Amino acid sequence: MAKEVLECSFCGRKKPETNLLIAGIDAHICDRCIEQAHGIVIEELKQNKRNGAMASDLILQKPKEIRAFLDKYVIGQDQTKKVMSVAVYNHYKRLMQQQSDDEVEIEKSNIIMVGQTGTGKTLVAKTIAKMLDVPLAIVDATVLTEAGYVGEDVESILTRLLQAADYDVAKAERGIVFIDEIDKIARKSDNPSITRDVSGEGVQQALLKLLEGTVVNVPPKGGRKHPDQKFVEVNTQNILFIAGGAFDGIERIISKRLNRQAVGYGSSKNTDNIDKDNLLQYVIPKDIKDFGLIPEIIGRLPVLTHMDPLDRETLRAILTEPKNALIKQYQKLLAMDDVELTVSGEALDYVVDKALEYKLGARGLRSLCEAILTDAMYDLPSSDDKALVIDKSYAENALDKNLLQRLKAAS
Ligand code: ADP
Repeated sequence: MAKEVLECSFCGRKKPETNLLIAGIDAHICDRCIEQAHGIVIEELKQNKRNGAMASDLILQKPKEIRAFLDKYVIGQDQTKKVMSVAVYNHYKRLMQQQSDDEVEIEKSNIIMVGQTGTGKTLVAKTIAKMLDVPLAIVDATVLTEAGYVGEDVESILTRLLQAADYDVAKAERGIVFIDEIDKIARKSDNPSITRDVSGEGVQQALLKLLEGTVVNVPPKGGRKHPDQKFVEVNTQNILFIAGGAFDGIERIISKRLNRQAVGYGSSKNTDNIDKDNLLQYVIPKDIKDFGLIPEIIGRLPVLTHMDPLDRETLRAILTEPKNALIKQYQKLLAMDDVELTVSGEALDYVVDKALEYKLGARGLRSLCEAILTDAMYDLPSSDDKALVIDKSYAENALDKNLLQRLKAAS
């Protein structure tokens, strides 16, 4: 009798026609069918999740739980963490309330963050989105222009959100939009009547409706509106908007106001108690208005918070403490080549010193680490060494060779 050729019990392909045929108790399955079945399982699970989304999305995380999650990823920034936790909690309470027919309508708690670049504004927004498992769109306010001008229409923000939500409109409608560099669309002059301010006040006006809650026809594929393109209706009522900006120069506005208050009639404030190194902590909505955002925008971003500048201690902690801290990432990368990476405390202090010296901020930590580790990451995969110890002198030498020369030349 001829030897029986095994075949896939699902598609009938003979063993030689498959890359892999796996045997079960009474049947066989080939690699292609496994892949197909896997696809079906993933789709089904997604669908179930979507169906359950209405209920499960609204399991409220308490502010302290939200804060604890933020703590895993973001170092410092106490005030922002607290304010954000409450705002996000209230935002989701508001969503729940909409499902009941109550009279008291809770207004949106969109947020505005004031803080120097690289202090973690985007990171906070990303972390909140991760925790809530909602889609996040990060947009740069500087590219936005009024409809009809060169640049991106304000609606393109929602196109991004739709993309982030895999074009699931219901999901997008509960997502988060982070608008970066909101300060760059401040009115350039106090005189609103001068020539049209295409990228300033006009954009602020266009943003107003989105922030407040409206139904927008969104071109799903992005870019400019086009008469042939089909639109998707997106309701922004439940979208949480978080705006961030460095507001360069706002310290002057804050300090002037504080001085005025200190000398004002009946004032109890004393300027001596003011922490002049971190004036942002005293920011109030009026300062934002004086900077050039229109009052209506400020009204629709009612939760105002600031980011503290990153000091030595914070930078040092950022290297090792967050869940996906830089050093942990490099350790993981090298572990894939069976190399154990150890970085001494002194080496870490040295990296922080250089970041401070060259005013590189938290973002600079990455380029510094990269410069220190590049040679090792190049050599080690082809060598037998199974341990890499970075001490201060190693860090000094590697940095001097790879980055400091360039930084020195530039400064
Ligand atoms: P911003 O949006 O304020 O310009 P980012 O959130 O983009 O700053 O921060 C840049 C990078 O610096 C982040 O990816 C993160 O690795 C790091 N970083 C900045 N601030 C913090 C912080 N407070 N805690 C942890 N990491 C931080």
